[in-house]
Amino acid sequence: MPSPPYRGRFAPSPTGPLHAGSLFTAVASWLLARHARGHWLIRIEDVDHDRCVPGAAEHQLATLASLGLHSDGPVIRQSQRTPRYQQALDQLLAQGDAFYCGCSRAQLAATGGVHRHCVAPPRSDGHNAVRLHTAGSGVIGFDDQLQGPQRQDVSAEVGDVVLFRADGCWAYQLAVVVDDADQGMTDVVRGADLLDSTARQIWLQRCLGLPTPHYLHLPLLTDAQGRKLSKSEAALPVDARHGPELLRWIWHLLGQAEGALDGADTAPQRLALAAQWFDPGRLPQTLLPAPTMPDFPKDRPTP
Ligand code: GLU
Repeated sequence: MPSPPYRGRFAPSPTGPLHAGSLFTAVASWLLARHARGHWLIRIEDVDHDRCVPGAAEHQLATLASLGLHSDGPVIRQSQRTPRYQQALDQLLAQGDAFYCGCSRAQLAATGGVHRHCVAPPRSDGHNAVRLHTAGSGVIGFDDQLQGPQRQDVSAEVGDVVLFRADGCWAYQLAVVVDDADQGMTDVVRGADLLDSTARQIWLQRCLGLPTPHYLHLPLLTDAQGRKLSKSEAALPVDARHGPELLRWIWHLLGQAEGALDGADTAPQRLALAAQWFDPGRLPQTLLPAPTMPDFPKDRPTP
């Protein structure tokens, strides 16, 4: 059977302006989709009420658009998908794959936060989490397209996964699995900080009877000290005015041919050249701590 046409996505959480690490993921996932002559969609992952910042999604979308990165279909927002997540949760509860859980973090401290069985009864006030049973998961293996073969014993290493939080939020793990399937994603390209989440997502897909896409986890950007860029002071919001320089910097980090972007001045023009010359075979598995983001003074006048 021929494989379905490539569908990839970029799924930012609107917790603030886009930072360099997110832009790196956005550009890499876009290039891979373009290389495969596939579709690339943007999805706003705004299920976590505490972390989302009002207006951040619009700001992120405007930054992406100014660089020439447009979704090839409607931008969906997870905050509007509650009925679908509820349906998936009901299915898991009905199958006996999920259960209400009243265990607090403090009560799970003895097992390092890993939930293998309830140590407290569900709360009578209804403020319970819903978790996925992982006892039957066994070792889940998958072939990451950049990081190579991966294996994780989800039950032993992760424990029973939260699907719905006691504070009333849908958990990322449930939302991402349902959305990737509903949007027909064939390829998930994201940062290596989510490599550890993939096996539990595959287990959840199996419980829900959903297909498993291909996964490619990009190396995480680091600053000169080797710290993850997103956790350091180097995680500056990207300034769309510096789009052309940022794209050249990302192109270099992606291990692509130097000089290929010469002759294009605007970000959308550079992006078009990048799509023409991108070679996925050159993607690096890990990044050296050396490439730091070019220093773009905040007060530089608008060109
Ligand atoms: N929303 C996640 C983030 O911004 C990405 C999730 C994913 O790509 O699966 O880190």
